Amino acid sequence: MADTTGQLSLFDDEADDKSQQQAETPAPSEAATRAAELRHLLDSYAYHYYALDRPKVSDAEFDALVHELKDIEAAHPELVTPDSYTQRVGGYVSHQFEPVEHAARMYSIDDAMDLDELDEWLERTVEALGGSCAFVCELKIDGLGVAATYSQGAFVRAATRGDGAVGEDVSDNVRTIDDVPMHLMPAGLDRVPASARGRIEVRGEVYMPKSSFVALNEEADANGTAPFANPRNAAAGSLRQKNARITARRNLETFMYAVADPAGLGVTSQGEFLSWLRDAGFHVNPNVRRCETAAQVHDFCADALEHRGELDYDIDGVVVKVDSFAQQEALGFTARAPRWAIAFKFPPEQKSTVLREIRIQVGRTGVLTPVAEFDPVLVAGSTIARATLHNIDEIRRKDVRVGDTIVVHKAGDVIPEVVRHIPEKRPADAVAFEMPSVCPSCGSPVIREEGEVAYRCVSIDCPAQATERLVHWASRKAMDIDGVGDEIVARLVESGLVTDVADFYDKLDEVKLANLWTGRTNVSGSKILLGETIAAKIMAQVRDSRGRGLARVLFGLGIRHVGASVAAALADAFGSLEALAAASDADIAQVEGVGPKIALSVIQFFAVPENRAVCERLGAAGVVLSEERAEPEREQTLAGMTFVLTGSLERRTRDEAGAELKARGAKVSGSVSKKTSYVVAGAKAGSKLTKAQQLGVPVLDEDALEQIIATGLPPQ
Ligand code: NAD
Repeated sequence: MADTTGQLSLFDDEADDKSQQQAETPAPSEAATRAAELRHLLDSYAYHYYALDRPKVSDAEFDALVHELKDIEAAHPELVTPDSYTQRVGGYVSHQFEPVEHAARMYSIDDAMDLDELDEWLERTVEALGGSCAFVCELKIDGLGVAATYSQGAFVRAATRGDGAVGEDVSDNVRTIDDVPMHLMPAGLDRVPASARGRIEVRGEVYMPKSSFVALNEEADANGTAPFANPRNAAAGSLRQKNARITARRNLETFMYAVADPAGLGVTSQGEFLSWLRDAGFHVNPNVRRCETAAQVHDFCADALEHRGELDYDIDGVVVKVDSFAQQEALGFTARAPRWAIAFKFPPEQKSTVLREIRIQVGRTGVLTPVAEFDPVLVAGSTIARATLHNIDEIRRKDVRVGDTIVVHKAGDVIPEVVRHIPEKRPADAVAFEMPSVCPSCGSPVIREEGEVAYRCVSIDCPAQATERLVHWASRKAMDIDGVGDEIVARLVESGLVTDVADFYDKLDEVKLANLWTGRTNVSGSKILLGETIAAKIMAQVRDSRGRGLARVLFGLGIRHVGASVAAALADAFGSLEALAAASDADIAQVEGVGPKIALSVIQFFAVPENRAVCERLGAAGVVLSEERAEPEREQTLAGMTFVLTGSLERRTRDEAGAELKARGAKVSGSVSKKTSYVVAGAKAGSKLTKAQQLGVPVLDEDALEQIIATGLPPQ
């Protein structure tokens, strides 16, 4: 019990943080911007979670954003929109499945993130019901909600919750779940009045037992496929399958706990209804308690928290429901949840283990990430053995050392994380970790820039970064090699045909490319190759790209901090790659728009012998490394004019539009002044537009911009 109390007090700290957040609720215009931003983020995260069953962030992060939005909406009720995540049931209906309209709406449940919030809800509810009310506490099963419909006792169909009103028809898949009865047992059915037997819609949770989840992810590791983040996503991914045979192999189970129309069944309370469910043959969770007081509700929550690890299914809290159906009806629903239920959410589970190694992983952008490798432990439903330590500052902050006994948890019950080390258990010989001075992937020296947390490998030759660098080189703003995207590059790297950018020109040819396996197989099982036609097209593009000019080469090399406009400025200033490579950092820093940070990065790039070797090979293969361009010079019809581009453009990016204007001799500036000739304002233009209006600078829309680009002439 002591432990449990300890865990619950964790919640109190969170409550303090929250009240601080509330005190800092932003001013109206800031609030509107932030609310819009939050809605956009939540929609995107919810799509990954509900539609793809592959969350992008942890539940804790997601919930924190929902709470931030709720706080803003509470302080500024005028900002509440009907489509806000706080006002609807989060979900998704895929076109892959037939839509099914639910007999009555399926709701979400509001949550209490700490005991104070739970108590507030209990008090409010008892008061609203005239001072007397009993509750039923159930475990909150971390699966996905389904509704199963029966007619005259026979299974008709099952659907996911979807958006609450319409779900996805997953009948064939649910039929494969052993504990879902295809016929209701007479002990239950006989008690239902004949008038209600035509349609009984029972609701509950489909979940994947922890043991099946661990086995499924072990299989995924062995096959090299992506594992599921947690049992909830595994259950959703398994149920929402087009092929029911796959669902059948996933060992899904259910717990039922609700019905669309309780009145029709002739039962009067949740407790009574749960007995009916059992009698009718459904699988009902045995851990249920009727509570008369808040203290009893607290005890149930504490017990559930204490014993959660012993269950073979994941729970993420306790659902507290008003027991009487008449009282439930009196309280009703909000747009997204019943007023008669609350979900008390648990803090993430923690375990201790021993840190065996800190391994360095080289990411695709050259960042060296330390990863903790520890003795495997089962945390919140799955076995974890490693967790990212992010960077050296984080390691020092937590002071974790190889040999330490560490506390780990899953952030939001999803992402493994090292919380801290246990000082009393530190071995005498444990030494503080240091980042390596050379890249473990290619052996080149690693650098850490001032003010940055990350250590990086800047070698162009580093195999760990190859794919990213090659895709960048071929991208539209760099060498613009049409047809060379993520997939082909991944295959080229895998097959060893291309590892650095010079390989495109001096190693690759039509024959090798035509024989490249696309990674797909045809119906007879033979490998589909890229083929001669596509190979010829790509190689023609590769040859063409040699004449794109120095600015694009410099950008394409992926030198840190050298974006397209800096690359153009450097190309203008130095005229050739050779001159730039020989320049001092002081010379480079003098170029307009280039500061000491960029200069240092350029110097560091050319200091790596492998990088210089690749540049030499590019030159030898005919890639133009000077300012001479393949494109003809355009008439400088916009010389002497200054444009400012603001807001978002639909037809091209601001950089692309800027490049077009510059090609005609215009200057493109980032700030509006009296000297600005024109401001081009796209959608959601902000302060620059206001300033232009204040200063009387002419403002153009995107159509006018396109007209200038097409004709090369300033606006009439
Ligand atoms: P929810 O899962 O928190 O709670 C409502 C659901 O609980 C019900 O719909 C029901 O299916 C289920 N439930 C389980 N046991 C129950 C019981 N005994 N009685 C009644 N219902 C029970 O709500 P939600 O709206 O489905 O989803 C919100 C959750 O999903 C949050 O935890 C959120 O963090 C997570 N989420 C995460 C992401 C992400 O990107 N990580 C995105 C969207 C949602």
